[in-house]
This record gives sequence, structure tokens and C-alpha cells, in this order.
Amino acid sequence: AWAVLLLGWFPVAPPSMQLLILVLLTGMLSAGAFVLSALPLASLSYIAIFFAAALGALWLAGDPSFVMVGALLCVYAPMVAIGSLFSWRKATALLKSQAEAVRQERILAVVLEDFEQHAGDALWETDVDGRLSHVSQRLTEILGAEATTLRGQLLDELLRGGDPAGVEALKDALSQARPFRDLQLALQIDGEPRHLVVSAKPLLSDDARVQGWRGVVTDVTEKVKGINMLRQLAHHDSLTGLANRFTFRDALTESLSQNRGGALFIIDLDHFKTINDTLGHAAGDDVLKAVARRLTESVEPDDVVARLGGDEFAVLGFGAGMAEAAAGLAKKVIVALTAPVDVQGRQLRVGASVGVALCDDPQATVESLLIQADTALYAAKGAGRGRHAVYTPELGDLSRRRTKLESGLRHAVERNELSLHWQPKIEIDGWKLVGAEGLMRWNHPELGMIEPTEFIAIAEQCGMIEQLGDWALRAACKAAQTGLSGLTVAVNVSPLQLRDGRFLGKVRDALLEFDLDPAQLELEITESAFMDDADGALERMHALRGLGVRMALDDFGAGYSSLAYLRRFPFDTIKIDRAFIEEALHREDVRAIISMIARLAVTLKMRTVCEGVETTAQLAAVTQASCDEVQGFLFCKPQNLADFVKMRAEPMGMRH
Ligand code: C2E
Ligand code: CA
Ligand code: CA
Repeated sequence: AWAVLLLGWFPVAPPSMQLLILVLLTGMLSAGAFVLSALPLASLSYIAIFFAAALGALWLAGDPSFVMVGALLCVYAPMVAIGSLFSWRKATALLKSQAEAVRQERILAVVLEDFEQHAGDALWETDVDGRLSHVSQRLTEILGAEATTLRGQLLDELLRGGDPAGVEALKDALSQARPFRDLQLALQIDGEPRHLVVSAKPLLSDDARVQGWRGVVTDVTEKVKGINMLRQLAHHDSLTGLANRFTFRDALTESLSQNRGGALFIIDLDHFKTINDTLGHAAGDDVLKAVARRLTESVEPDDVVARLGGDEFAVLGFGAGMAEAAAGLAKKVIVALTAPVDVQGRQLRVGASVGVALCDDPQATVESLLIQADTALYAAKGAGRGRHAVYTPELGDLSRRRTKLESGLRHAVERNELSLHWQPKIEIDGWKLVGAEGLMRWNHPELGMIEPTEFIAIAEQCGMIEQLGDWALRAACKAAQTGLSGLTVAVNVSPLQLRDGRFLGKVRDALLEFDLDPAQLELEITESAFMDDADGALERMHALRGLGVRMALDDFGAGYSSLAYLRRFPFDTIKIDRAFIEEALHREDVRAIISMIARLAVTLKMRTVCEGVETTAQLAAVTQASCDEVQGFLFCKPQNLADFVKMRAEPMGMRH
């Protein structure tokens, strides 16, 4: 329509009007083009029609000066077209990005909704004042409150019941306008302890002012519980709830580094294995729990009580003046643990032995202290059950010597370091040499001559006694065949040897090997052989006696001295212990006992030997009591075979 107007009017208009129309033309061309720029085809068509109409109008006017105007129009129209296209592209890009933003927002909304429904984490948002403005479903679950109650509440007000340190840290974080992560918060919700983790970032305005906060709360209660349980398991003994070995070592390390002093107690239960074996593990567990309770009650709250494993417990005591008080505390612990324990309706008795090491040496290490306490414990046990010992350097020397003896014993037989010394047994009536007892000696390459009182017990404990006993048996049989012919040859037999089923065969073999009359060999056995398994011991002794060898009850009177054994087993000889002989002079009652034993022996057809006769007065006393034989330093100390044989050749001295 505009083009028709142009074509019809411009050629006939006066020149002044033509100028005006031309100005209008250029204006309309560009204005129309830009108005239509959002629709590029329409815009281009508009430009093309308008441009063509303008050229036509100039042509129809026919004025040569309009050629120039036409040329200008040819430049102007394409430029307007380009400008319109350019503007079209810009507008399109803007629209596209707006559409994309809307789409993104929709996706985000869907994702968030999904997250709030399924994730363990809860979203929240606060306004400028710190009041909750967005409350997710999950947040209501975690905080145990309705969304309507929560909305508008102050965040730090809500978490106020939490642990002070956590709340303080949260307030601190909120007061600084910086994002924070994984802030731990423990609080009580509906009376239940809950552990939350909070992360958030501030919502900032364009001028960097905090407009509120947006964050996530995660409920980690289960996780924390799990970690705590693992920690408990790792640090405590699950049966008794006491500290375990690792925790105890840590406590010891720490107290040493702080130079706290105090004392370390290692407590070992006596006879626990028997309870476990005979009454079962459930009973054993009950005993251990009772022990744990009593130990905890016996010490100060500050002290550390631990179960190191099995039936071994430990206490780290810190009380003031522990160096002086240690022995007292050890005794208290022993008394507490010795009281009967009620297990499944039975009254069980467990004793305890205690080893103590004082933490007074600044050079001490965890290892050295544990070794010291162990050494003391060992000494306490060695002195008899139910005792305690405090570590001293002398005890340490003893323990080192023991270790040396223990390792040396393993080679003693093969290196030919053992020998038997012989002590005569003299028949009082007629004063004649009737027998000899073989007493073992050990010539240690480094420590020199060692007494059996020291090494026999060690050999028994470290399982070497059989080897030593076998050697003694054969050495005695050999001596009986050579230098001691005509004498009863006695050899000491450890209860452990007797317990070994092979012992009988060994005795038989030795008799055969040296072609010995069994009646010439006497086996000396102490009462402790009957301790664990009296019936088994009696049975094996009967079998031995069946071989024809003589059996002697050694150290009679030193131990339990049950006359029942004398009735149940026909010993050939009773050896009255040296302790009786020592006391015989001063005590009338002891003399009466000796003479009673001698008379009893006559009835039972047994011989009596008095051990350790050292003086003529003692000899007179035992003679009066009608004992049969004597043995002791009064006549002769134990001596090696060669000296013994030499002595035998000489006329008998020391007659009463
Ligand atoms: P036991 O069988 O009671 O041996 C007697 C101990 O008393 C010997 O000590 C002996 O030297 C000592 N004795 C003898 N007369 C007197 C005396 O008049 N006064 C004093 N004070 N002591 C006297 P020894 O040789 O040190 O042996 C100690 C223990 O070692 C023996 O006690 C015995 O139980 C054990 N033993 C020795 N040899 C062997 C062995 O070959 N095998 C086993 N299993 N044990 C042995
Ligand atoms: Ca003996
Ligand atoms: Ca003896």
C-alpha cells in the first residue's frame, strides 16, 4: 500500500514535496524493516518491495538528478537488510537462552524434589534473619517436627539443645559470610541422641550482603553409632568391657611420657584352666566377668584396668605414693579375687598371682615395664600361688639366670655336663653302708656347678625333666652295676616322669641293659606325684613295683603327708624329711611323730630312712625313735662315684 502511494504520488509531486517524500521513504524503509526484524522473511520482503517501488518512482519522475538518489538507495537498502537480519539473530539468541533457562529451572526443580524425597540429606534455606524459609520433607523427619512449626523458626534456636562446641562452631560459621562444610553437631531429638552434619553457603545479594543461607543437613547418627561401636570393639575387651591389650599399652605409653609414676600390675588367675576345662567356657566367662568387676572395684576410678588376654589381667595404678602402696594394692587384689565366685549356682574359687613393676625409672619403656611385671609375676607364682612379687633388679638377674639355665639345659645331656653324686644310706642297727642315693649335679660351662634344687624345677617347667630323668636312671643303673654293686641304689623320679606312660618301659629297658637285679634299684617319689591324678599315679607305681624295683616315699612330712597314701600303696621305704630331723632335738612332739612314723612303718613292713642327719645329737634322737637308716652330712656329703668307691673301701667311721 505504501509502495502504491509512492509510485502514484512521487512522479507528479512538486520538487519540494519530492524531497519530503524521499526523507519519509528512507525513514519508513528502515523503521519497517526493524519492526519486522523478528520475522526475517517479512522484513526482507518489505525492504525488497519498498526498494523496488522507490526505484520505480524515481524512474517515473524521469529527472536525471534522481540517478544519484537511486544509486544511494541501492547502497542503503542492502544495509538495512543486513541490519535487520543481524537484529533478528540477536533477538533469536536471547529468546533461545531464555527458553533454555526456563527448561533448566524445570529440570532442577524435578531433581531437587527427587533428592528431597529419596536422599538422606535435607535441604534448608534461611532468610536474612536466619529464620527457616524453605523446609524440606526430610528436614521435618530429621528434626522430628512439622514443616509448619519449623518454618519461620530461627535455625540456631532449633539446634540449641546440641553440644555446646558444635553449636558454637555453627554460630561462628554463620557469622562469617563464607560457605562451610561438614560441621558436626550432636543433639538430643525427642530424647534420642542424634548426630548431624551441616554444610551451607550464604545467599549473597549483588552488593555482597548476606540475604540468607542455603544448606544441607545430613543425619549421620547410625554412622556415628557404628564408628563408636567399632571403636569400642577395637579398644575394649568384648567379654568384660575392660580396656584391651592395645588400649592398655597406649595408656602405659602416655603415663610414661607424662612421667606420672604409679605401678603396673599383671594379674594371672590360678587354676582358671581347670574351671574352663571341667565346667565349660560359659562358666569360665562368668568367672572372668566377676574378676573384671572385682578388679575395677579394688582400684581407684582413675586407674586403668585391662584384660590382656585369656586369664591375664593388668592394672595401671596411679595413686599417690604408689611405690609404697603397690604391695598393699597387690594384696588387696589377691584377697578380692580369692573370695568365692557364684557361677551357675556353684561357689568357685579362683586365686590370683600378681607381678608388680614400679614406673619410677624415667628410662623405663613400655616393653621393659611389661617384662619386669612379668618377671615379678613369674617369681610370685614360683613362690606358690596366691602371692605377689614386686620387681627388683635382683629379680631381674634371677630371671636372666633362669633363662640362661633354661637354654643351657637343652644341651646339658648331649654335652655331658651332668653327673650323679652319691650319698650313702647307713643302717643304724649294725652301722653298715646299705645304699646310696644318686643326686644330680650340673656343671654349667659358664655358671659352674649348679644344684638340683635350682635346675630340676626349671627342667620340670620347660619339659626337659624326662630327658634328665632318663639320663639319671641309666647313670644310676650303670653305677649300681659297677662301683655300687651290693648296695641299694636310689634314684629320684619326678612326678612328671611318673605321669609319662613310657616310664615303665624305660625302667625295664635300663634294668635289662645293665643286667641289674630290680631289687637293687629304688625309685624315690614325693607325695606331689599323687596331686593331680592319684589313681593313675598309684596304678603306674604298682606296675613299676611289678618289675621288682623298690619304691620309696621321699620327703615324707614335708608336704601334705597323707597317711592315706601309705595305706593305698605298699612303699618299701619312707624317707622322713630333713625338716623333721632338724626340729627333732628341740621339740618333743616332733620326736613323737618320728617314732610314730617308724612304728607305723614296721606295721606296714616299710623301712624308715631319716634324711639330713647332721649332728650326733640328731642321730641319737632318730636312733631312739627306732628308725632303720640314716643319711646326712654327719657321715658324708654327696660325692662323685670315684670318691664314693674310694670311701667304701675304707673302714666305716662315725659310729655312735
Ligand atoms: P632329696 O631327694 O631330698 O635329696 C636330699 C637333699 O638333701 C640333697 O640335696 C642332699 O645333698 C641334701 N642333704 C643330704 N644330707 C643333708 C644334710 O645333712 N644336711 C643338709 N642341709 N642337706 C643334706 P641336693 O643334692 O641339692 O638335691 C636336692 C633335691 O633335688 C633332691 O632332694 C631331689 O628332690 C632333687 N634331685 C636331685 N637329684 C635328682 C634327680 O636325679 N632327679 C630328680 N627328679 N630330682 C633330683
Ligand atoms: Ca631323694
Ligand atoms: Ca628327700
